[in-house]
Amino acid sequence: MQLQVSEEDRLFQRDVRVFLSENLDPQLSRKVELGYPISKEEQDSWTRVLNARGWAAPNWPVEVGGSGWTMVRRHLFDIEMKMHHAPEVQGFGFSMVGPAIIKYGTQAQQQYYLPKILNADISWCQGYSEPQAGSDLASVSTRAVIDGDDYVVTGSKIWTSAAERADHIFMLVRTDTQAKPQLGITFLLTGMNDPGITVKPLLAFNGKRLWNQVFFDQVRVPRLNKLGEENRGWSVAKNLLGNERLLVSRVAENRRMLSNIMSALNENPHAGAFKERVAALVIRLEALDTTALRLLTKFDKGFDIGAEPSMLKLKGSQLVQDMDRMLYEIVGYLGLPQDSTLREGGPAGAEIADMVASGLFHHRGYTIAGGTSEIQHNIIAQQVLGL
Ligand SMILES: Cc1cc2nc3c(=O)[nH]c(=O)nc-3n(C[C@H](O)[C@H](O)[C@H](O)COP(=O)(O)OP(=O)(O)OC[C@H]3O[C@@H](n4cnc5c(N)ncnc54)[C@H](O)[C@@H]3O)c2cc1C
Repeated sequence: MQLQVSEEDRLFQRDVRVFLSENLDPQLSRKVELGYPISKEEQDSWTRVLNARGWAAPNWPVEVGGSGWTMVRRHLFDIEMKMHHAPEVQGFGFSMVGPAIIKYGTQAQQQYYLPKILNADISWCQGYSEPQAGSDLASVSTRAVIDGDDYVVTGSKIWTSAAERADHIFMLVRTDTQAKPQLGITFLLTGMNDPGITVKPLLAFNGKRLWNQVFFDQVRVPRLNKLGEENRGWSVAKNLLGNERLLVSRVAENRRMLSNIMSALNENPHAGAFKERVAALVIRLEALDTTALRLLTKFDKGFDIGAEPSMLKLKGSQLVQDMDRMLYEIVGYLGLPQDSTLREGGPAGAEIADMVASGLFHHRGYTIAGGTSEIQHNIIAQQVLGL
């Protein structure tokens, strides 16, 4: 299979570069580079800049305001965005519930939600995991009981990222306790400000509010807000990612981290001591990128892709963590978290402490979120290797 990126795609990549250099505020980009938090307003206004160019939703069809790009173009776009330190658009809306609404939504749901997602007028969080339902998601027990035109929802969701800034949630609820677990689940959309919803913070060990626990106490959700059929929410959830599941390699993020490692090496008088190990990371990254491009090209040519993306998820998330450790080692004490005395007027590099230390801890979650590494190993063993 021809793996070289075509001349047209290279031109496209150049257009993206030009666009980013002309439209991305350097101060915002610097904040992203240093791992500082960006506000909802900053993320929303950047989303609107992308939307005005038709690039906010690379994975949506053109008819509903997406870019309609091939997977290879999306891969190249991701790399340019990361290398320019552009803020990400909100993945829960653009990559998760948006495509699900496009596939399963009623016309009214599509007309209501899609333009609002594109223009960053609403933001979402994902209510799947529960204290007793993570990898085994089919055992969700948050209950939704029909009462007239509403469901009455009671239970709790955990590890809900961004719940503190989201105004909507898409969630899996149990609507039938007698059926097989997968057949008694319904997919609901609702507002986070509905009466009966409480959000409590959960802090990660970098000290940041990475998640929340969301409690539902007799929350009334109109039955019109179900996505897809009642008791068939499992199919919606399984298909929710659609082609997104192919873009799990984190090649773009790894490229950005490698460039951080290279900058840190330039500052380090003992750079030679690290070169062999950095070379090993570069080789792993190139192998990952080639494998990702191989699968994406295959998909773009119309072939079915099976469970192979699990390999990309596994290798990409592990590589990020190894890049983190390398960077942390190279910058040494400058990577210590929260060292504000060093940051102000201190030695060059101290300002990257937040990004280095915080990233090291934050990215531990990459081998858990979206299906743990053990689950990916199971999938590869069963569906790729036929064990
Ligand atoms: C950064 C981050 C963000 C997240 N954001 C969200 C969010 O926004 N919304 C949301 O709903 N959830 C979110 N999650 C939760 C995430 O989906 C779950 O953590 C994940 O599905 C694992 O579930 P669990 O934590 O209950 O672990 P468990 O499923 O209890 O697993 C515990 C351990 O057992 C292993 N294990 C489980 N089953 C098997 C098996 N069959 N074979 C071998 N080993 C197994 C796992 O690999 C793991 O090591 C987030 C998680 C992280 C880390």
